[in-house]
Amino acid sequence: MAALVIDGKAAAQKSGEEVRERVRFLREKGTIPCLGVILVGEDPASLSYVTAKEKALAETGMASRDLRLAADTDEATLLSHIAALNEDPAVHGILVQLPLPAHIREDRVISAIDPRKDVDGFHPVSVGNLVLGKRGFVPCTPQGVVTLLREMNIPLAGAHAVVVGRSNIVGKPLVNLLSRREINATVTLCHTGTRDLARYTLDADILIAAAGKAGLITADMIREGAAVIDVGVNRVPDPSAKKGYRLRGDVDFEGAAERASVITPVPGGVGPMTIAMLLRNVVQAAEDSE
Ligand code: NAP
Repeated sequence: MAALVIDGKAAAQKSGEEVRERVRFLREKGTIPCLGVILVGEDPASLSYVTAKEKALAETGMASRDLRLAADTDEATLLSHIAALNEDPAVHGILVQLPLPAHIREDRVISAIDPRKDVDGFHPVSVGNLVLGKRGFVPCTPQGVVTLLREMNIPLAGAHAVVVGRSNIVGKPLVNLLSRREINATVTLCHTGTRDLARYTLDADILIAAAGKAGLITADMIREGAAVIDVGVNRVPDPSAKKGYRLRGDVDFEGAAERASVITPVPGGVGPMTIAMLLRNVVQAAEDSE
């Protein structure tokens, strides 16, 4: 079987059009949705993520308030910037690009964001709402995974979804989202403590890899006809590539595509959806502020 390759860019574009429509409506009423974006330091990967997010905001008619802070900015200064953005009615969402320099406590910073502006969905209040099945911001990557599955008409209710990876930004929120009553999947969460990973992955109707280990999931670990979503983004050295590396997912794509019914590529799968869901959360925050 040759799997259908899911086009994350196309799905992201479709979502972007919906967002643009909502933005147009808000702008007609005089509200320009705006995201406060804080970047501490000059990590090139973080800088490129922030730039991509700001570009996507502009393309959908939204604004961003840029704060680029030096790598040695202290925690109190960062917290005072967040407090100012919390108070500013023209700013609807706040994003602090992670990771932060080691001298700043990430949990302190995330907790300082007003939950009504927590468009990344990392604040403990947002996490609690997700676990309780209440309305609130859902982290972008898990939301992107579920949106992609829905776009592809993959049956979710009653399906066995196996998630590999239990981080706070991907694995854990994904498990909570998939097990919500309105989605109704049966979910297994695997991690490094899982004995015999293949035993679980082979039983998955939907297999979601979010481990950050290139090629962890091989074809023999995939059930024939499963839907495979690869969240992993890993730099694999490749002297023939211009940058000296290639981006690879957690799934051995070529082998897996022979067994799966649908599969996401890396890049071009989940990645574009993450930004698309951020845009959705920002417009939501602006609508809620009305
Ligand atoms: P993370 O914080 O490093 O978490 C990785 C998780 O995978 C951990 O729970 C770890 O288990 C588990 N794991 C690692 N090796 C494993 C193995 N051999 N078997 C089973 N479980 C294993 O990573 P993350 O932030 O969730 O990101 C995961 C991947 O997704 C990364 O490649 C990242 O770049 C990518 N990502 C992509 C997007 C996107 O937009 N496409 C967004 C976010 C992240 P333990 O808990 O036991 O250590």
